[in-house]
Amino acid sequence: MFHTFLVDIIERFREALKIPTWWPAGALPGNAEAETPLRRFQDFLAENYPCFHKKAERRTLSPYSVVYRWPGRAGAESGAARGADAGVETAEAVLILAHYDVVPAEREKWSVDPFGAEKKDGFIYGRGALDMKSILIAIMEAAENLCAGGFEPRRDIWFAFGGDEERSGIQGARKAAEWFAQRGQRFAWILDEGTPVAENQIKGIDSPLALFGIEEKGFLSLDLTVAQNPGHASRPPKVQAAAVLGRALCRIAKKPFPFNLTPTVESFFARLAPLSGGAQGFFMRHARALGSIFFRAVSGNPDIASLLHTTVAMTQLEGSAADNVMPSEVRAVINLRLLHPRTVEKAVAFIKKTIGDERVKVTVHGLGTDPVPANPEYIKRTGQGWKEMEAALKAVYPGVTSLVFLMVATTDSRHYKDLAGGIFRFSPHQLNPRELSLIHGHDERISVENLQRGLEFYTRLLGSL
Ligand SMILES: [Zn+2]
Repeated sequence: MFHTFLVDIIERFREALKIPTWWPAGALPGNAEAETPLRRFQDFLAENYPCFHKKAERRTLSPYSVVYRWPGRAGAESGAARGADAGVETAEAVLILAHYDVVPAEREKWSVDPFGAEKKDGFIYGRGALDMKSILIAIMEAAENLCAGGFEPRRDIWFAFGGDEERSGIQGARKAAEWFAQRGQRFAWILDEGTPVAENQIKGIDSPLALFGIEEKGFLSLDLTVAQNPGHASRPPKVQAAAVLGRALCRIAKKPFPFNLTPTVESFFARLAPLSGGAQGFFMRHARALGSIFFRAVSGNPDIASLLHTTVAMTQLEGSAADNVMPSEVRAVINLRLLHPRTVEKAVAFIKKTIGDERVKVTVHGLGTDPVPANPEYIKRTGQGWKEMEAALKAVYPGVTSLVFLMVATTDSRHYKDLAGGIFRFSPHQLNPRELSLIHGHDERISVENLQRGLEFYTRLLGSL
């Protein structure tokens, strides 16, 4: 019985993987060819989860966003009173986020068709197998089964699925968040994708850890440009734009953002300390007291250092298009991940001051977003949603240690930060380092075992709401 059930789930998941929801480089919103697969995916959900779609209200905001409200018993009972009294009744609502877009795949570097959803050696291959159609499908399968079994949640459960998370969520998550804000809809808490359960996530700790991302770093890219008169490379000026830019980059490299131990990271280290022996354990236990000594000791470890300050990655450099032509402008892009309380504005000011050279123009590239601090209750391992998250985790991973964590990557949830008491970022799969490297990589795949774990996690979680 369970076997047939699993076979059906795998088949639906494979169908979902076959929909090529990646965005072609250079396509603009409104591009019909690019948007068709996104709409196709939305239709796929409606066609494959009939019971859930009968119970839940569906709102397609655009190809980039579909939103569902699965009404809780309280809402269903009071019926017409909802509108008038929405503030009270919706206070306990919960929001589950996911995205159905995927990053592109270089076909020739894969051993299988990235959109063929091939089944091989206990794995299902395909772009989005890990990030994150497997999770979205697990959420839908869990909701469908619960509905079919007659389950009604105690409170409203909302779902918001985005179609452009891999491109900042500007059309999807950001507009969906605006839609909720206009309706005055708030959530007790939100769950989005995050870190999976993994061994060796932190050097020296081989037991698997479940990291609940309760805080998220901000995101900011800056263009640094220096202009000069273009001309023949045979008569270069004494001071060249590339040298001015190079000096600016050296100054940035020599003056890292100051270290800062946020309460989330302090709590993370404190709980990690007993698991990691020796000097590392000692340092983690006494991180705050050791202060700058601790920071210096870990500054060479990017996994740890990235938790402790705003990082700067130098990602792009550009000059002339020809080897014998002076460029009219040279440009570098630096990508910053902002640690609370460093905002976009403060980070720009810090970089400008560090460069200290008017010839270098500093401008924000694309959408910069401020860090999202933690709900202080979560740091104490309490607060709305904590109990339910822990219980669902324990059901799938008995004995695994859970820790609060700082997400250094960005998620769609940042667009919803003003709508919720707290945000959890977590992925219920257990991945080894090899599998972790497949996220956005070639031959992305998920084990059937992990699909089952995802299904069980969301069944427990949704069933407890
Ligand atoms: Zn993702």
